[in-house]
Amino acid sequence: MGVNKLIKPYIQALVPYSTARDEFTGEAEVYLDANENPFASNVNRYPDPHHKALRTELSTQRGVPLDQIFVGSGSDEAIELLVRVVDTAAAGVTIAPPTYGMYKVAARNNNVAVIEAALNPDFSLNMERIREASDTGSKLLFICSPNNPTGTQYTLEEVRTLVEAFQGVIVVDEAYIDFATGESAVTLLPGSDRLVVLQTFSKAWGMAGIRLGVAYAAPALVAAMNKLKLPYNVSTPTQQAAIARLCEAGRVEEERQAIVRERDRLAAELVKLPCIEHVFPSEGNFLLVRFKEAQRAFLALRDAGVIVRDRSNELHCTGCLRITIGTVSENNRVVGVLAGS
Ligand SMILES: *Cc1c(COP(=O)(O)O)cnc(C)c1O
Repeated sequence: MGVNKLIKPYIQALVPYSTARDEFTGEAEVYLDANENPFASNVNRYPDPHHKALRTELSTQRGVPLDQIFVGSGSDEAIELLVRVVDTAAAGVTIAPPTYGMYKVAARNNNVAVIEAALNPDFSLNMERIREASDTGSKLLFICSPNNPTGTQYTLEEVRTLVEAFQGVIVVDEAYIDFATGESAVTLLPGSDRLVVLQTFSKAWGMAGIRLGVAYAAPALVAAMNKLKLPYNVSTPTQQAAIARLCEAGRVEEERQAIVRERDRLAAELVKLPCIEHVFPSEGNFLLVRFKEAQRAFLALRDAGVIVRDRSNELHCTGCLRITIGTVSENNRVVGVLAGS
């Protein structure tokens, strides 16, 4: 099935809102078309609603055509738009818990049902359950790889299998791809117009505060998402900061390596501690850790001023806390507190 059939018909028929800057293309000396304040600053003009310069830089660096790149206010905007764009009338959105919470939030906020195709207890994909969800008519699947909170990455072969098993739009959320050893599913985009890959500036790129997420998808899906997004969804400072960051790949790479090094060191330190039962291998910038007494460990850390994420109520995550990799001294503090607790 082609992706066009998976997009709500009313959205395909929509004509995108035309901004003042759309009506006139080219360079002018005087802009009196958008009721802006004429006194110049970095932000007195509306931002580029098409994020042309930023998408061009992403296109060059990632090797993805311009019309297959959507830019939004964090991946969260892309997630929300995908829930609204894909025709979910027949059945709900399929997720594979334990996973990132925003897929369910976006579905619920839009009154869309959620089908849970739970992961196996070893955190691997349960293809049978995903096939069953597809058979019920679900047209949208969210997979997170590397997965938050489990830290597991699915192989490209598994993603290819997913595309066959699930007859709808398959979203692979790669928020943590830069920390992973496996390849990005972006390379599979030419093979299927039903595949979407999400990436973000919030993690390895160190820019959670600017709010910028990217969706790589078939041109028809990108066009549909662009029709529904608010015209000025990404501010000028955000677009500029992202372009500047893309041009300092060396520094990003150094930070990425430092985080991965610390992740592996912290894992090795934690497994030695008697309060810890298991440290799960991680392809992200966090560790999922099973404690003998998770609540006790959580409180000991909190009392020492260290906040971690309690995931003990998530499926297959009994007794587990998720610990983000910090600086060397922050990670040492975690070890110190837990060794003494
Ligand atoms: C952190 C995270 C994101 C990032 O969302 P933004 O809105 O881009 O900040 C996306 N997906 C997952 C799975 C995450 O853990």
